[in-house]
Amino acid sequence: MATFIVLLGPPGAGKGTQAKKISEILKLPHISTGDLFRENLSDQTELGKEAGLYINQGLLVPDSLTIAMVKDRLSREDCAQGAVLDGFPRTLAQAEAFDQMLRESFDSKVDCVPCIDVDAGLLVERLSGRWMCPNGHVFHATFTPPKVPGVCDICGSELYQRDDDKAETVSKRIEVYNAQTAPLIQYYERQNVLKKIDGAQDIDSVTRDILDVLEKIERK
Ligand code: ADP
Ligand code: AMP
Repeated sequence: MATFIVLLGPPGAGKGTQAKKISEILKLPHISTGDLFRENLSDQTELGKEAGLYINQGLLVPDSLTIAMVKDRLSREDCAQGAVLDGFPRTLAQAEAFDQMLRESFDSKVDCVPCIDVDAGLLVERLSGRWMCPNGHVFHATFTPPKVPGVCDICGSELYQRDDDKAETVSKRIEVYNAQTAPLIQYYERQNVLKKIDGAQDIDSVTRDILDVLEKIERK
């Protein structure tokens, strides 16, 4: 049976950071819709150009585009045993479409939703210091600085700051999270799969807490 884990939480909570670690440990692919959109944007595909209009304003890309992209990604062979989702679903319509995809294509359902909780003030600090590489590796100027400033420790690529990590866009993204994504907390609570995680701790402690809740789920 396939295992699907959804990491929920506001922008800057640490979903990408944790999804990378968890997916390596569980040997499941890490699917980040933000990374998929950014790849399309840098390749200037039609999807990327359209998504860019929304991303740069801190808004969500329309559900129809996002759901189709995830459906396509899940159809690849590496997802046969499941996946760790980061940044998807982000609306109730996406969550319902995802449940349907899992039911129809995998005879499965969402197994666990660690919801990473972090105060708004800390989110702004995390996002304003975030440095990314084109291959999705994430650093922070203060909390997890790269060994050589501006260079990815893992793949040697040049690091950059995301346009949507500017202060104005960050506040819009947090507002959008509260309005459109936070209702998923109740959605997954009703399915009995939501697990609250204190995201203000250091990275390894957050990983340990997520692994703890995953272990309990798998033993059910
Ligand atoms: P998200 O994917 O939820 O938007 P990221 O994983 O990209 O968040 O993390 C946002 C920023 O905060 C990054 O610069 C990352 O290095 C840093 N970060 C993530 N988790 C922690 C943590 N537990 N403590 C300190 N910094 C963190
Ligand atoms: P992220 O990398 O998860 O912070 O996502 C960056 C941006 O990509 C978001 O602010 C949205 O504009 C867009 N995006 C990513 N995932 C989704 C999604 N599931 N639904 C709609 N838009 C998304």
